[in-house]
Amino acid sequence: MIVRKGSSAGGIRILVADDEQDILDEYASILADPAEHTDQRAKLADLEAELFGDAAENKSSLPEFSLCLCRQANEAVEAVEAAMRDGQPFAIAFLDVRMPPGPDGVDAAKRIRGLDPDINIVFVTGYSDLSPEQIEARVPPADKLLYCQKPIHANELRQIACTLSAKWTAHRNLQTTRQRLEQVVTATPVIIYSSEPARDRSLSLVSENVAQHFGWEAASFLNDPNFWIDKVHREDLNRVLEALKQVHELPEVSIEYRLRRSSGDYRWVSDRMKILRDASGRATELVGCWFDITERREAETRIRQLAYFDAVTGLPNRLLMEELLQHGLALAERYRHGLAVLFLDVDNFKRINDTLGHDAGDILLREVSRRLLCCIRKSDVLVAQGEVENLLAEPGQESVSRLGGDEFVILLSKLNDSADAGRVAARISEMLATPIACGDEEVSITATIGISVYPEDGTDAATLLKHADMAMYHAKQQGRNCHRFFSDTMRVVATRRFFLEQKLSKALESGELMVFYQPRIDIRSLDVVGAEALLRWRRPDEGFVLPQEFIPVAEESGLILAIGDWVLREACRQAARWHAEGLPLVVSVNLSAVQFRHPLLAERLAQAMADTGARPSSIELELTESALMEDTRLSASLLSRIAQLGVRVAIDDFGTGYSSFSYLKRFALHTLKIDTSFINGLATDSGDEAIVSAMIALGHQLGLRVVAEGVEDAHHLDFLRARRCNEAQGFLFSPPADAASFERWVHKRKGAIRQRVTTG
Ligand code: C2E
Ligand code: MG
Ligand code: MG
Repeated sequence: MIVRKGSSAGGIRILVADDEQDILDEYASILADPAEHTDQRAKLADLEAELFGDAAENKSSLPEFSLCLCRQANEAVEAVEAAMRDGQPFAIAFLDVRMPPGPDGVDAAKRIRGLDPDINIVFVTGYSDLSPEQIEARVPPADKLLYCQKPIHANELRQIACTLSAKWTAHRNLQTTRQRLEQVVTATPVIIYSSEPARDRSLSLVSENVAQHFGWEAASFLNDPNFWIDKVHREDLNRVLEALKQVHELPEVSIEYRLRRSSGDYRWVSDRMKILRDASGRATELVGCWFDITERREAETRIRQLAYFDAVTGLPNRLLMEELLQHGLALAERYRHGLAVLFLDVDNFKRINDTLGHDAGDILLREVSRRLLCCIRKSDVLVAQGEVENLLAEPGQESVSRLGGDEFVILLSKLNDSADAGRVAARISEMLATPIACGDEEVSITATIGISVYPEDGTDAATLLKHADMAMYHAKQQGRNCHRFFSDTMRVVATRRFFLEQKLSKALESGELMVFYQPRIDIRSLDVVGAEALLRWRRPDEGFVLPQEFIPVAEESGLILAIGDWVLREACRQAARWHAEGLPLVVSVNLSAVQFRHPLLAERLAQAMADTGARPSSIELELTESALMEDTRLSASLLSRIAQLGVRVAIDDFGTGYSSFSYLKRFALHTLKIDTSFINGLATDSGDEAIVSAMIALGHQLGLRVVAEGVEDAHHLDFLRARRCNEAQGFLFSPPADAASFERWVHKRKGAIRQRVTTG
């Protein structure tokens, strides 16, 4: 084997096999030694330029060839073997058909083809036993096979060498590009596919990386027309088929759906499809790409879970509830059926949370949510659609939501009769009545429910929720553990409350607030021994607003802190002044629970007394039972701080709330005030007589001074005197009056008593 190179290394490699050395030399002189032919070439180029003009310039640039010359077929085969091994394949093999004594060219060609599928084989022979058709059949493919007649003609040989090497180079470049493209595609997470629109769903191409991502061989997609459609999740199939239709009308269609992997699980893909068209606008190809978006979808689901669901109970939160309600309202409007919103608040939940701890509170909320779900029949369920549908884990869940804290909302759809909502509310109360196990404790709970109904109480979500909330608030006011339907009166009340709150915030500055005083009379001596400071609000346009009306507003809005502080200072100032004027009265001041729990209460009290010169012994604070019993441990410590200041404490409205007698014994209290309602009933209700008698006895047993409120007539006073009640307060003596009137009343009364004593 002789290897002869062209003028530069690395030219296009050509293999020549011929048993005649002369012929091999001829090949070499024609193809491999450009120097020898420079003159000839120049002449040829001149001639061509003469004949064909400028075009000759291009034709004269022959490629450089590197020749490998062999005398025998076996040598040629070995040369190809080595070339393939070294990664330097031949572009062309010129093979003599007869090369005695060894195997012939056709035999060599067969073996060469087996080694190198891309090599172009040219049979060169003076005569052949085989027809070109026979050779083709033995050494396919036909497009890489040429037949050339001996004797070889220089120009013809060069022409063949040039054409085949150009073809071979182009083919190689194409292959390299394709390989690179495949590598790029495999490295990216995008799977490209295409199909002929005419062939409908069967794919004509799919990138190999489909195997890497989905476990299916690319070929499977091409062979079976329904292969990929079969892999689409059943729930997504209709959308995919729709997209395949739409893609013909739109510039591009994007769709997300699930595709099954060979392992059986599904992955979310984003598919962007487009129709390619030829110049005439005819659809030639549908191309699409799948992009695995499973991670993104999962992250989105997690985010949505956090955004739409309550972490403690797993129920939909306010945001989702509002969406569900809006959706429910749309359905109710379309199908003309009713819908109810139940606003539920667990009674005294805060106390349970504070006493048993937050973990127990969470257990309780979860149990409440479980029971609420049990209460909701299937027919009450709102049908959720779209995105939200995917979020809802179990059917029926969409009817119960937790707004936060101890508030739940139940949506009842397809309501025929609004009374049904009342029945569901009653069922809920019944279900909640069974005690709940919270760790070692068993807790009994109740709930208060407000109900609003579509369309009577509102046609939009915000109004219905607001009205259900309002109804719940009213139910709470009426003693909790019950349900109330929204009514227009509630709206009037709520509007009034809002109005009062607005006005009340300015009342203190504009001097509309004042303190009235009502005397407290010692029953035995009938002396005025004290006065209860009672807040009054006189509005310029409507006169006095009832304390029962505006004090709850002040308490809920927090305004009571500033107002209560002002009352306290006014009362202290008045007590100090009366004391200075020889009227040593104990002035009692009502304190709401918010003020009592305020961490700075003791400091404020001390400051008010210091600033006004009031003596601690002339101030008494009135606290209701509920304020004291809310958190008994805290109450006990607050009371002892007040006692340390030397200030007295009265338990007000006794009998209207609930009291634990064991706590009453432990609290630092001085006075017990029996509520007006019991005194009012004395003349008519023997039950009240028994209760009042017992209360007086109890107060005395606990070492407290007992004050009866609402004493309106002599009969009341006689009854109380007979039971040794210490003090009385009421219209029998005087209604509450401003400080000046109170003073006048006291002086007049002193005169009257003095007169009665002297005349009597
Ligand atoms: P309370 O502390 O139980 O005050 C006694 C209430 O009974 C007063 O109502 C008083 O006017 C009324 N009353 C007095 N004598 C009689 C009588 O013979 N018959 C009847 N039926 N009622 C009588 P008022 O002034 O309307 O105050 C109502 C409630 O408002 C008070 O009940 C108290 O809880 C609250 N309140 C009044 N002033 C303040 C205040 O400055 N701060 C706070 N937090 N609450 C206050
Ligand atoms: Mg009072
Ligand atoms: Mg009272």
